[in-house]
Amino acid sequence: MKLQDKVAVITGGAGGIGLAIAERYLAEGGSVVIADIDRDAIDAAVARLARGERLLGLRLDVTDSASINAMIDETLRHFGGIDILVNNAAIFDMAPVLEVTEESYDRLFNVNVKGAFFTLQAVASAMVKRGAGGKIINMASQAGRRGESLASMYCATKATIISLTQSCGQALISYGINVNGISPGVVDTPMWDEVDALFARYEGRPLGEKKRLVGEAVPYGRMGRPEDHVGAAVFLASEDSNYVVAQTLNVDGGNWMS
Ligand code: NAD
Repeated sequence: MKLQDKVAVITGGAGGIGLAIAERYLAEGGSVVIADIDRDAIDAAVARLARGERLLGLRLDVTDSASINAMIDETLRHFGGIDILVNNAAIFDMAPVLEVTEESYDRLFNVNVKGAFFTLQAVASAMVKRGAGGKIINMASQAGRRGESLASMYCATKATIISLTQSCGQALISYGINVNGISPGVVDTPMWDEVDALFARYEGRPLGEKKRLVGEAVPYGRMGRPEDHVGAAVFLASEDSNYVVAQTLNVDGGNWMS
């Protein structure tokens, strides 16, 4: 019960990695807000996890500051404060460098960078006002550790997340707020189904082949599963990580070492 009586907001919490973290935080005694743009997925997640008063589903669009503020206000009304933010919502897109469109660039940076930063800023402001510190976990990616020719813009957004984790981590630790990140590798979620379909289009592969190949290439021997990331997410949300500041932890089966 490492998160007893703690309140966690998980953006993009209605599916994939965010939902697995929500389930584990509840099992650790925490209260959870699943904040996601997909109302149907929120309702399905809340119905499945069924934790009554300790679980709240709120619609959030991280690209809209009014939506971020409304989500925070509702969370404070319901739970009284926020102890943990898992800044996890993101989208994927890819195209060869010579074919990247302004529309794709704007969409990726709006959700993955602007959305993540202003969600962090708004939740951190509420934490500072409350004066009880907090834990913020940004979801990065191995894609932020190195460029990839077909995913240049997504990689750039995730490199920015690692950089923001460093800057915000340094800036906020004086308020007792730890900002750290998790860097997954390749994880079997709805996002990777989209990635696989895009690789099929751009590399002329049958559907499913890229997914199988990247899984086989992981030193651990398989693709990540959403639940592979929950241990790190509990550690970075708990008092065990109080002296860990501005770091991004690779949880990727050995794909990247730094
Ligand atoms: P996913 O697509 O399964 O889940 C993402 C969630 O974010 C969805 O529930 C979606 O509705 C929500 N979302 C999208 N746009 C939003 C918005 N504007 N506002 C609020 N919510 C929004 O993805 P996932 O694979 O679980 O990825 C979770 C995180 O992990 C992301 O930050 C992703 O970049 C990162 N990541 C994933 C992988 C992977 O292989 N799947 C690898 C490395 C990093």
